[in-house]
Amino acid sequence: MNAIMETAQKVFVNQDGIAVIKCPVCEGVKTTKVDTFKGTRHVVRVKCTCQETFMVNLEFRKAYRKEIKLSGDYAHLPHKRPRGKMLVVNISKTGIGAQISGAHSIKEGHELQMTFNLDDRHHSLIDKKVVVRLVRKSYVGCEFIEPTSHDRALGFYLMV
Ligand SMILES: [Zn+2]
Repeated sequence: MNAIMETAQKVFVNQDGIAVIKCPVCEGVKTTKVDTFKGTRHVVRVKCTCQETFMVNLEFRKAYRKEIKLSGDYAHLPHKRPRGKMLVVNISKTGIGAQISGAHSIKEGHELQMTFNLDDRHHSLIDKKVVVRLVRKSYVGCEFIEPTSHDRALGFYLMV
């Protein structure tokens, strides 16, 4: 086993769960969606198209999270029901955390539509499809389905 194969190369995963991996032998670059590894395995074996296998150490960049308390609405997709009230308690470029009011049937993997207004000057409307990644009693942690990179109101809100 040579030195290249023994050390796992560090690979940064961007906020959309994308890693750009470079083969140490042929220098071929591949872009892979690795967000399924989040929070679990961080060192993974990669097989290149040149047949070389090597280890990569995935480093997930934590998106800045803003703690807030904003009331809003959620609705299960695709039929927009059941629906209910929530209190959004954190927001980042990649997702939303919310406390659900009352009983709910939300499970990990469910898709929801979340609607609320930011407390910025324009009370910007956030109306997003999310996928539920975590459910802890009344708390749900959700990830945006559509990228928010072009969402100026949210981008600005997270900067201040
Ligand atoms: Zn290769």
